[in-house]
Amino acid sequence: MTKLLPLAVLAMAACVALPVSAQTGYTQTRHPIVLVHGLFGFDAIGPIDYWWGIPSALRNGGARVYVTQQSAANASEVRGEQLLAELRRLKAAYGHQKFNLIGHSHGGHTIRYVAAVAPDLVASVTSVGSPHAGSPVADNIAAALDGTGSTAVAASLLNAFAGIVGALSGSAQPQNSEAAMRSLTTKGSADFSRRFPAGKPSDACGQGQAVVNNVRYYSIGGTGVLTNALDPTDALLGVGALSFGFSANDGLVGRCSSRWGVVLRDNYPWNHLDEVNQAFGLRGLFTPDPVAFYRSHANRLKQAGL
Ligand code: CA
Repeated sequence: MTKLLPLAVLAMAACVALPVSAQTGYTQTRHPIVLVHGLFGFDAIGPIDYWWGIPSALRNGGARVYVTQQSAANASEVRGEQLLAELRRLKAAYGHQKFNLIGHSHGGHTIRYVAAVAPDLVASVTSVGSPHAGSPVADNIAAALDGTGSTAVAASLLNAFAGIVGALSGSAQPQNSEAAMRSLTTKGSADFSRRFPAGKPSDACGQGQAVVNNVRYYSIGGTGVLTNALDPTDALLGVGALSFGFSANDGLVGRCSSRWGVVLRDNYPWNHLDEVNQAFGLRGLFTPDPVAFYRSHANRLKQAGL
């Protein structure tokens, strides 16, 4: 017993010296994880990551992580082609065979496009708060602009905004706000899903196939709106929520619209930006930590051999 004690102390000291993640490789997936932003999104502007605190948490657990940049505003297919080019570049540069794609919001459509046209490059598709069946917020904006004939004016203003977001994050990708808006309407998303149905739920609020073309499909969604009084972005999402009447939503995306493939959970108490741990980690008290979700999901992918 007395001889064993020093060994036990040494073992404990080793545990303390190494971070838990380094010991376990908890997020160490076989294939790299690629984070794909949504509408008006970016990879990083200066020190501000779109995916607040998420890439570093995944890397600390052993994952290889890439944060890509698509047009802040453009059609699903245009953004998808941009992502495809980026994945091909990463494959050529580093020899990666496949990628685990995680898309937030419009990023969900983007990664579905890539999985459809290049399934050999994709191990898994995970959407977070993506309006797969469209968003009534986009429907209402489209109807208001079409009704007043002001689409062109609004689109040019939003293109300028998207261009600023792009420029601040070092991108000169083309911006087309009207195409983005059309992609995210109920009609536009239904058309997209007709052409790219892999993982589509069997009914409006059901589950989709777990595996299509050897690609795994997962989704999550949120149903919080005003979650933190200190977060200025909550006000925008509160306005967005008005488009939903009494149906559950995250401020921009309805609960059922977020469902795709294997639905891990569609009612996290998060709003649309809490889903990427914004702004700056501000979310509701006592709500689950979004970073912990991304870590546990990476572990799920790892356990699945992905
Ligand atoms: Ca928030």
